[in-house]
Amino acid sequence: MTTTDLTWNTALLYPAPDSQLLESELASFETMAADFRDRYFEKTAELEPDVILSAVQEYEAMQVKMSKAFCYAHLLFADDSGNGMYLALSQRCSELGNRLSQNLLFFELELMNLPDSLFETICALPEAGKYVHFLTGIRKYHPFTLKENEERLITRKELTGMRAFVKLFDELSASFSYRMELDGEEQDFTGEELLSLLHHTSPDVRFRAFTTFLEKHRDNGIVYNAVFNNMALDHGQEMELRGYTSPIQPTNIGNEIPDEAVEHLMAVTEANFGLAQEYFRLKAKMLGMERIRNTDVYAPVVESERKYTFDEAREMVVASYAAYDPELGRIVAAFFDERRVDVMPRTGKSGGAFAMGISPEAPPFLLLNFTGTLRDLATIAHEAGHGLHFVLAQKQSMLNYHAPLPLAETASVFGEMLLTRELLDKEHDPVVRRSLLCAKIEDIIATTFRQTVLTRFELRLHAERKNGLLSSDRIGEIWLEENGRLFGDAVEMIPAYTWGWSYISHFIHSRFYCYSYTFAELLVLALFQKYREEGESFKPGYRQLLESGGALSPADTARLAGIDITAGDFWQKGYDFLGGLIEELKATI
Ligand SMILES: [Zn+2]
Repeated sequence: MTTTDLTWNTALLYPAPDSQLLESELASFETMAADFRDRYFEKTAELEPDVILSAVQEYEAMQVKMSKAFCYAHLLFADDSGNGMYLALSQRCSELGNRLSQNLLFFELELMNLPDSLFETICALPEAGKYVHFLTGIRKYHPFTLKENEERLITRKELTGMRAFVKLFDELSASFSYRMELDGEEQDFTGEELLSLLHHTSPDVRFRAFTTFLEKHRDNGIVYNAVFNNMALDHGQEMELRGYTSPIQPTNIGNEIPDEAVEHLMAVTEANFGLAQEYFRLKAKMLGMERIRNTDVYAPVVESERKYTFDEAREMVVASYAAYDPELGRIVAAFFDERRVDVMPRTGKSGGAFAMGISPEAPPFLLLNFTGTLRDLATIAHEAGHGLHFVLAQKQSMLNYHAPLPLAETASVFGEMLLTRELLDKEHDPVVRRSLLCAKIEDIIATTFRQTVLTRFELRLHAERKNGLLSSDRIGEIWLEENGRLFGDAVEMIPAYTWGWSYISHFIHSRFYCYSYTFAELLVLALFQKYREEGESFKPGYRQLLESGGALSPADTARLAGIDITAGDFWQKGYDFLGGLIEELKATI
């Protein structure tokens, strides 16, 4: 097998989708959950504090087992959604998972409703230490939770409600194949391949690729419009039922970041849109254009379209982690050596890239769609960062395993910074250095400014859906307005961009997730700045930050590395750093 055929060795989890082991585990889950329910349902509040704590530990052990089986099914489905056996297993696990969460739902609700005095006694138990963040985390939704039977109904109806729309969105988007002329001949493309043509040297190819991509979405506009309208309506109704005051509030509570802090982060970002516009004007100059279009935002600034083989890419990524810390390099290399990476794009395989952390006891996996660009190199560094985070956080137990959302991107973005530095150190050609600098600046623009635009769009979409059904024209208008604030008069948006909202799966999969990227990127800029200033003494704190997984709140986790996210000038620091990069770039033009 050549390394470009590198696919997952899912046998690290189970021998096969029809194996006895998987079958017996899946079959045991319902009995396990029923038994747990028998012993604790409507009894939690009457139990002794130490018995409640041991129930929490038992609950955690079930999550470890279930996560392994369900993640395995998800990996197979992501590997080939056209495989009947994988599809059936994925469907079965999704239905089983739904039944299990219905049966186990009571437990977190009962923990949430414990009398304060009992709750405090549990938290004060010597063995409770590591569960305090989890326990207080459950109670943060307390004011917004309904009665158990109502919660059960919502969970049950979700399967044919919002989750059905999510599935429809995914299946439709994955089914597309596109035709476009390239190099003089009509060719078939996947969506990923078309989007990667936004990095092509020809403005015409970039324009046609994105237009072709968006027009396919326009042709299926009835479905996308229905999915977006229903998603916003469904969310709005749930907010009303639960008594939230804004659609973003549950996300912020989940992130443990106050609404005002998020609004502040976005406002500081919007106040710095001028930096992006300044860069876009520089980009026009570098490309020899009067003004760029939004299809030129990711255009390469050097003549040659440098391609990397996967082996080159892998070596560079591993080397960049190893240069920071040899042990981190070894952890990253193990993903490739143990075949926990699926590399090449294929029909039926999930688009994009992801890292899947399963549990403290099972190895994490990465999915890539490698096409050989510099961008793909950064994606490997990014996903490897997630993978590394999942490995280091295995020090924690399951309920503390996953980093809170705003910190979930820390290791990935930091890893991209390490790669950029490694590339800049090794590259002596000034033109290529300029292109690297551009890539980093563009990346920062994409992870800060753009994510804030997406979040602002989302807020407006949800707010307007309250007043009635939104036409695709109206959604497109809001979309163009919010993007227009970022682009100003520095960038012209192509006509088909009115459909630019329709393919962004975050809007469907994880509402308001996008500002977490802004948070993470700025946090990393600050961390990286600190690393440059402090060198070796920075490393133990950063490692502790990663190892703490989800054991602490974002503010407390960042504090491990000496960062105070509540400090007034914290966010602006990140943009000052970006301003510095732009000045550095100017000097090369
Ligand atoms: Zn990521």
